[in-house]
Amino acid sequence: MRSASARRRAFRVAIGVCAAIQCVCAFGYDPAGAINPDAFKPNGERYEAAVPDTLDLAERARIAVHGLTSFLNPEKHFAPYGHVYFNGRPAYLSDFPGGPPNWGKIAEALQFARMMSGSEENLDVDAKMFEGMITDVPLNPAAPTPVSCTMAALTNLYQVDPRPELKRVIDTIAEDHVRSAQPQGDGLYYYDGPPSTNPTALGVTNYWLQVFIQGRAIRPMTRWALASNQTKYIDTCGGLARFTILPKFWESEAAPKAVTSAEHAQFNGHSHAHTQGLMGLLTYAQAANNARIKQFVRDGYEHMRSFGIARIGLFGEGCTTGDMTWLALALSVAGVGDYWDDADAYIRNHLAELQITDAARMNAANAEMPEGRGKNDTTSGPYDPANESNENAIDRCLGTFLSDSTHPTLIPEHNLLYTICCTGNCTPAMYFAWHSIAQCDDGHARINLLLNRASPWLDVDSYLPFEGKVVIRNKSAQSVAVRIPFYVDTRSVRATVNGEPHDAVWVGRYATLDNLEPTDTITLEFPLTTTTETYTLKWKQDEFWKECTDPGPDWKPLDPPAKYTFTIRGNTVIDVSPRDTGKGLPLYQRDALKAAKAPMKTVRRYVAPKMVSVFPP
Ligand SMILES: [Zn+2]
Repeated sequence: MRSASARRRAFRVAIGVCAAIQCVCAFGYDPAGAINPDAFKPNGERYEAAVPDTLDLAERARIAVHGLTSFLNPEKHFAPYGHVYFNGRPAYLSDFPGGPPNWGKIAEALQFARMMSGSEENLDVDAKMFEGMITDVPLNPAAPTPVSCTMAALTNLYQVDPRPELKRVIDTIAEDHVRSAQPQGDGLYYYDGPPSTNPTALGVTNYWLQVFIQGRAIRPMTRWALASNQTKYIDTCGGLARFTILPKFWESEAAPKAVTSAEHAQFNGHSHAHTQGLMGLLTYAQAANNARIKQFVRDGYEHMRSFGIARIGLFGEGCTTGDMTWLALALSVAGVGDYWDDADAYIRNHLAELQITDAARMNAANAEMPEGRGKNDTTSGPYDPANESNENAIDRCLGTFLSDSTHPTLIPEHNLLYTICCTGNCTPAMYFAWHSIAQCDDGHARINLLLNRASPWLDVDSYLPFEGKVVIRNKSAQSVAVRIPFYVDTRSVRATVNGEPHDAVWVGRYATLDNLEPTDTITLEFPLTTTTETYTLKWKQDEFWKECTDPGPDWKPLDPPAKYTFTIRGNTVIDVSPRDTGKGLPLYQRDALKAAKAPMKTVRRYVAPKMVSVFPP
C-alpha cells in the first residue's frame, strides 16, 4: 500500500490540469438572458399507479435530485464540492481539491434527474447553479474540459429551451473549442504532452489527459453541431477524432505478439480517461457514420471489459462504471453490437450499488470511523468553513454516487470517500439507460431493457428479479417489440394481451406484438434462471480504488488472488460470497430480492414531456 503522501500527490496530478482552468474568460462572451428559470420546471403528466417494487430508475433519479441540489456550496454560487469523506466523523464535504471543474457534469446530472423523476425538490437551485456555472466561463485552450462539460449541460438545456441568448453562449464556447484546437498531421488536438509513466496511487496514468480532453470536447461539439444544425463543428470533431486514435495512445501493456494492439484500442493507462475518449469517438463516428472508428470503439470497450468484474459492472472507479454503461448502450443503439445485457447487468448491479440511497446504512458505517478527517484526505488541520462543510453531509449526499468500484462486497474505510466526478458520470449514464428502456417511432414501440419506465407511449412494469414477468400498459403504440434477455430461452416466453394468449412474432431477440389498442395490457412471462458464477479479482481489498489498467511496475496480485461467487437471478446479483470484513460500507445487502414474488407498491408516476437525446440516433 502506498503512503498517504504518494496518494496526495496522485490526487494533485489528477486534479492538476482541471484546476488550472479557473481563469481565462472566453472572447466576446455574454451570458445575459441565457438561463430561463422556467425551463427547469418539470411539467409532465403525473398519475398514481400500483407497480412492482423493483429497481426504478425514475425513483433513483428522485433521490438524485435531492443530493444534487443539497450537496452544493451556496456560498460559491452553488458550485459542487470536490470530495466527500464518509470515513471521518462527522462526514464532511470538502473543496480540496476543487469541485468547480466538474460543474458542467453536475449540472447535466441534475437536468437529467429532474427529467426522469419530475421531482420539484429545491427547484430554485437549478437556475442559480447554471447561472453560477456560466457567469465566468473558464477556458484553458490546452485543457477545455470544464467548459466542454458546461457545453454539454447547455446543449441539453437548448433542446428544452431553444432561446437565442443561449445559442449565442454555446456558439461562443464552440468557437473557442475550434480556435484553440491545434493542427498536427491530419488531426486536431488540445494537449499533447509526454505520457505520465511514473506510478501513482491511481496506477500508471500514461497518455490520459491527451485522450480525455479530446473525448470530453468531441461529445458536446458533435451534439451541438446536430442540435443547432451546424455541420462545421462535425468537421472539427473529425480532426479531433483523427488525433485521438493515434497509435501511441492505445498501445497495450502486453499483447500477443501477433496482435496489433493499438488498432484495437487495447490501451494501457487511466481507464476513465480512455473510456471518455471512446465515448467522444463513438459520438462522432455515429454522427459521421465512420465505420472504422465504430470498430475501434467496440474493441476498446471489449478491452476494458476484461478488467475488474464486468459481469457486475465493477471497473475500478465509479466514473468508469458509468462510462462502460454509456458505451454498452451507445454501441447497442449504433448497431455495432448487442450489448443490452451488459448494460442491464451494470445498471442492476454496480451502478445501482454505488448510488447512496440509504442514510441509515451510511450512518452506521460512518459511526465506526474516527473523529476528524478521514483517511486519504488531501488536507490536514481544522475545517475551513468557506471551502468545507460537515453539516448534515450524509443526508445532503443521498442520491449521489460513490467512487470505489474496485471492491465488490465492502467499500473499505480508506475508500469510504468520493470524488465528485463519479456522480457527474454515473447520473448521466443512468439517464441514458432510462431513456433507452423504451422508444417509439411512428407508433412502433421498442423495449430494449426490462426495467420500469413510464413513457408517453406505454408504461413498463418489471417484476424482475423476483419473477420472469413484464407488464406493458399501452397508451398509444400500434405495435411493440420487446427485447428478451440473453438468459431466457425464447421458446419459453408466453405472451398475453388483456389476459388472452397472443402469438408473438420474433425478430432476433425481440418479441413483437402488433394491432394493439391504446388501453391494451400486454404481459410477457418466462422462467427466470438463477446461476452461480465465480470470478477472480486481482485488485486487493486493502488498496486504493483502481483507476488505471496498470497498477504499477512493482504491483503484484495476491497469490492466490481473491475469488468471488455471485448468485445471479437473470442479470441481478442477489448474493455474493465470501464477503470482506472490516470497517466500511457493505455492498449487495440484497436478501429482500430473494423472494419468489415481487412486492407491490403505489407510486406517483411521472411522464417527461420532452426528453434530451444524448447520443445521435
Ligand atoms: Zn470519478
